[in-house]
Amino acid sequence: MSEILSLKNVSFRYGNKTVLDNISLSVKKGEKVVILGINGSGKSTLLKIINGILFPKKGEFFYKNEKITEKKLKNRDFAKKFRKEVVLLFQNPDSMIFNPTVYDEIAFSLKQFGFENIEERVSFWSEKLGISHLLNRSPFELSGGEKQKVCLASLLSLQPELLLLDEPTANLDPRSTGWLIDFLQDLDITIITTTHNLGLAPELGERTVVLSENHEIIYDGNLTDFIKNKELLEKANLIHKHRHLHAHIYHSHFHFHDEY
Ligand code: ADP
Repeated sequence: MSEILSLKNVSFRYGNKTVLDNISLSVKKGEKVVILGINGSGKSTLLKIINGILFPKKGEFFYKNEKITEKKLKNRDFAKKFRKEVVLLFQNPDSMIFNPTVYDEIAFSLKQFGFENIEERVSFWSEKLGISHLLNRSPFELSGGEKQKVCLASLLSLQPELLLLDEPTANLDPRSTGWLIDFLQDLDITIITTTHNLGLAPELGERTVVLSENHEIIYDGNLTDFIKNKELLEKANLIHKHRHLHAHIYHSHFHFHDEY
């Protein structure tokens, strides 16, 4: 598999507060990677860097072996091509919707990017996401889960190569969470998903990258091995002490049912 993304020694600060510390990460085409870390560990910031919204002051970022620079992203044509291929679903879908109907919402980005056969494309993706019955509704009136599906339809209709999902299960009930997990598993593109939920991480991807409280990558691999490592679990600060024990007793299974 060829490499789609590579971060080399990337650090990021807001003011003088470091929120990503010397991050190196490479992702192969077709991989489903989960970024796991507590709130504030830097997950959203990392996705925004990969989406080219934020630019790291230190380190390098390559997309399909091409170095992505702030200068390139300031070029309209380059940014347009890049943002069509690398798309980000924000944690709060309200920040992404602004059209009067669901149809317009999905059609909007298709028009922006010059796609043809817009009606067919909207129809295909709304059907795939189970929102065809909502096409004439205002997206603002929908539930959080429905809004999220509208945003996903509008991003996926662009046929991106890399889908970035910021805590996509954080505001979903268990049924919608299960639906989303199945849906993502069937998608044939590279996906990077963030979550703070240890129990959900293995469902969202086969490879888990753990960000510590100190904003460093402390683990990259199979989650089963991660939860066997007491020291790393403590560094990640992902579970309470009594749940910690639980993780060791049942180390080959995932018994974290909260929020799922
Ligand atoms: P996560 O997604 O893991 O919760 P974030 O990347 O959102 O982490 O945030 C990492 C840290 O950066 C947090 O302490 C957060 O308060 C801070 N932060 C996030 N966005 C900004 C911003 N625009 N300005 C200043 N600090 C920020």
